[in-house]
Amino acid sequence: MRAPRVIAIQFDGLRADALTEESTPNLLAAAERGTWFQNHRSTFPTSTRVCVSSLATGVYPQEHGLPGNSLFSRELGETITTGRHENLVNWQRAMGGRLLLRDTFFERLGGGVIISAASSGSAWLWNAGRAAHLIHPVAAYPDEWRDEIEKAGEIPPAGEPDLDRCAWALDLALDYVIPELAPPVLVVHLSEPDSTQHHQGAAGAVHRQALVGVDRLFGAFRERFQAERDDSEQTNLLLFSDHGVVATAGMIDLEAELADLPGRGESWHVAHSEGAALFYAESEDTLIELAAFLRTKGWAGPLFSKEGEGAEGALPGTMSLGLAGCGGARAPDLLMGFQWGDGFLEGENREGALPGWGYSSVNNKGSGGTHGSCSPYELRNFLIGAGPAFEAGSRVDAPTGNIDLAPTILSLMGKETSGLDGEALTKMPRARGEERLYRVESKDFAQTLSRTEADGRFYLNFARLEKA
Ligand SMILES: [Zn+2]
Repeated sequence: MRAPRVIAIQFDGLRADALTEESTPNLLAAAERGTWFQNHRSTFPTSTRVCVSSLATGVYPQEHGLPGNSLFSRELGETITTGRHENLVNWQRAMGGRLLLRDTFFERLGGGVIISAASSGSAWLWNAGRAAHLIHPVAAYPDEWRDEIEKAGEIPPAGEPDLDRCAWALDLALDYVIPELAPPVLVVHLSEPDSTQHHQGAAGAVHRQALVGVDRLFGAFRERFQAERDDSEQTNLLLFSDHGVVATAGMIDLEAELADLPGRGESWHVAHSEGAALFYAESEDTLIELAAFLRTKGWAGPLFSKEGEGAEGALPGTMSLGLAGCGGARAPDLLMGFQWGDGFLEGENREGALPGWGYSSVNNKGSGGTHGSCSPYELRNFLIGAGPAFEAGSRVDAPTGNIDLAPTILSLMGKETSGLDGEALTKMPRARGEERLYRVESKDFAQTLSRTEADGRFYLNFARLEKA
């Protein structure tokens, strides 16, 4: 059996500036042996399932159609969280069509294997077109596969840090998936350091344990893979995160905050989790009222609405959803990223802490860290490519992002990559592009969005709301 041509390992929530010799020596050693893309960008909302959908399809949310970690389904008439795969199955059934609007690279390749230690919803989205085999502690595709997985070894319970589950995923790859199934492409989604960051923020001893621990697990995986496979040098390793993280400045109970605005659940709906909130309403007056109300709150950040004139959205003073890649058929009518800031919070645990803070929805796994909004700290994730297709010791400053993973894998497998928002990273040199600032001003506010544009592609740097 041959080794996979591509092994892609997702280190959930690992910020680019968390890669250090002290904490992540094994990932840095891989960067040394391969190519380190140092200007890598996430997708907005910087929520795991939105990012996974972009990683799997190579397009922005406006093309793949998964607008948030939580969303309001008009078909079901209710708000759903996409964290549970059963909810995605129900939503898809109610829509009577595709889960994601675009093909995943597994569909284009006609197969592959995904092992996920993260939420069942994100695992399901990696396999949105059900072209791959999926292994997850509570979800499997095909379903009969669950017995097969259990035969291969006991699944440890989730923990903090969640290193046993991460070890289970990597061991399963070496013990069973690679030797028995020999998939040409294997994706392994590790829950750390994100899982710990939600409770602890990106600081302190437990966070360090998670970060150091997941790096060590990767180091051991790579060593064993090389020792056991004569053909390991033929494999391209793609090592990446989906988004970053910021320290939580406050947990906002949006239902309570919005209690005085009449019509919730009737004339308007809200779906919120972590750093983003999605609003839905038929009436423009209602949306204007919502936007005006949000702007009275210190925790509210940039607002986006459907296509208007230029950078401005249809609702006065907001930005166009399309500018951030989040328009499209399934977009909310109004999208808010929670407010964020630079530096450190007062009284914050600064032991090994990374700068950057933001407000969070109460719908978050913990109160230590959050992501989902559009700060540079959440948008800066990492990518390293190592193997025969990647130049050793190379550093790439040109902009790259989540949207480039799928075309890269397709290109490594000799497939066509046209029609995607991203571009294969095997095509070098890449255009460095230019940073472009967009600005929308209204009476008491100014909203700025920065993106780097290169060869018709764009990568979001940040979006900021400032009060006059
Ligand atoms: Zn994530």
